[in-house]
Amino acid sequence: MELFRNEQILDFSQGANRDGIAHAIAALLDQGPEDVPLKIGGERVVTGRWIESRDPGDARRLLGRVARAGAPEALRAIAAADGAFRTWSRTPPADRSAVLHRAAAIIRRRRLELDALLMLEAGKVALEADGDLAEAIDFLEFYAREMLRYAGEQPLVKLAGEANALTYIPLGVGAVIPPWNFPLAILAGMTAAAVVTGNTVVLKPSSETPLIGWRLAEVLEEAGLPAGVVNFVPGSGSEIGDLIVQHPRIRFISFTGSKEVGLRINELAARTSEGQIWIKRVVAEMGGKDSIIVDADADITAAADGIVASAFGYQGQKCSACSRAIILDPVYDEVVRRVVAGAGALRVGPVEDPATRVGPVIGEGALRSISKYIEIGKGEGRLVAGGARAQGPGLDNGFFLEPTVFADVHPKARISQEEIFGPVLALIRARDFDQALAIANNTEFGLTAAVYSRSRAHLEKARVEFHAGNLYFNRKCTGALVGVHPFGGFNMSGTDSKAGGRDYLLLFLQAKLVSEKVLGPREVQ
Ligand code: NAP
Repeated sequence: MELFRNEQILDFSQGANRDGIAHAIAALLDQGPEDVPLKIGGERVVTGRWIESRDPGDARRLLGRVARAGAPEALRAIAAADGAFRTWSRTPPADRSAVLHRAAAIIRRRRLELDALLMLEAGKVALEADGDLAEAIDFLEFYAREMLRYAGEQPLVKLAGEANALTYIPLGVGAVIPPWNFPLAILAGMTAAAVVTGNTVVLKPSSETPLIGWRLAEVLEEAGLPAGVVNFVPGSGSEIGDLIVQHPRIRFISFTGSKEVGLRINELAARTSEGQIWIKRVVAEMGGKDSIIVDADADITAAADGIVASAFGYQGQKCSACSRAIILDPVYDEVVRRVVAGAGALRVGPVEDPATRVGPVIGEGALRSISKYIEIGKGEGRLVAGGARAQGPGLDNGFFLEPTVFADVHPKARISQEEIFGPVLALIRARDFDQALAIANNTEFGLTAAVYSRSRAHLEKARVEFHAGNLYFNRKCTGALVGVHPFGGFNMSGTDSKAGGRDYLLLFLQAKLVSEKVLGPREVQ
């Protein structure tokens, strides 16, 4: 098998790719809204209740409706996954791994069609949509290979007279609960890791992006995944989430999303339900408040560019987004000037327009919550860019916000401490590098971070003292690549599962040791 390589993102400066995306968007819109069922035990199920999926760039545009699961469907899905576990858990790892390779191939084949849906359902510009898709392919390809490594012989110390073997076996039925912000990559990665290791899954996609979730369910089916291994049950997290998490047949929960929901899941999963015979395992990847430090001797052009790209790429709706830049006093004014210029130059607009850099935020709820933080920021810092809903042709019916920058923010201000999850950046002045590090470490989170510096001593100090799961030097803090930058955070950012890394599949496995005393030739049949 070929060595793993990251999938290249399409080059949208090429006319052919731009035309391809434009055609795919037109085809999606021509086809009109679609109705999508649940999938339980291979059966397509409708419930008569629907989750509507609308384009956040134009909320009048209905993209489709997805059947909404309630308690009865969630229970059926758990039962179907339980039933399928008996055979899927015994399916040879190489066969399970092959399903992931085939799924990756199908996604490559359907690339532009899936990119178009990512753009319209999640509000991503083409480059961000294709980045999401490429990461989904990477997860599939990487975990397919990783499974074979875990299935191979595991090194043990030899003991005379015994044949010892350690094998990794699956856990059981898992609940996979992804967020909307990487609706293909994270959903595919979490699902693929759970099933390639031999588990079966109840997959509850985010209610914001269920159509993309359905596409992955279709892709896995076409790739030959047997019925019941992945049961697709969109539904409101608050309606069916607790039921799934607390069910005694659920063996593990793989969650990515907000701190609040993650903590709730962790707490509920720790309670033992009637009939439950195991301790549930929880993998919870949660929010961030990610900082970039700019040292006095940094390349300030690179730093300002990195801050702007990390803060406003996908409208700041990445868990890895830079939401605080901590800048040393000697370069503070110049970096502020450049960041403000960079933010002001970003074109806000519909994602279909190739000139757009900043699209809509995911929905009305997000628009309201981010706007609330912008108002809070006006009392906590000096507004130097943005600060309002974006106006202009084509923006009236969508959830567009101006890239917003506050300068002179106090390190303990709310906009410096709480996850906003939108295009809002706080700039903080530090008198020296030690103070910058102390400020950077002063939140409850610890996900991504970056330092721009030319000082080896400062970089080495940050290497040890900057408490973040993914720390980058002299580059932006977004854009982790599968296999290259295994991803996961400290403290309230989660369980540091390091998705896309060599330890990840272990979270979905348990090790079994079989020790056999070597008998004489006539002692065993
Ligand atoms: P969210 O509101 O916590 O939702 C995440 C998922 O949990 C959704 O599928 C949601 O379903 C479901 N859910 C809600 N309530 C639930 C409950 N009581 N029980 C079980 N499931 C429940 O987060 P989000 O808004 O989708 O995503 C944004 C957050 O994710 C941010 O905080 C971001 O930092 C974080 N994130 C972290 C990482 C990471 O790797 N650390 C990566 C990406 C995103 P509904 O949609 O139906 O409510």
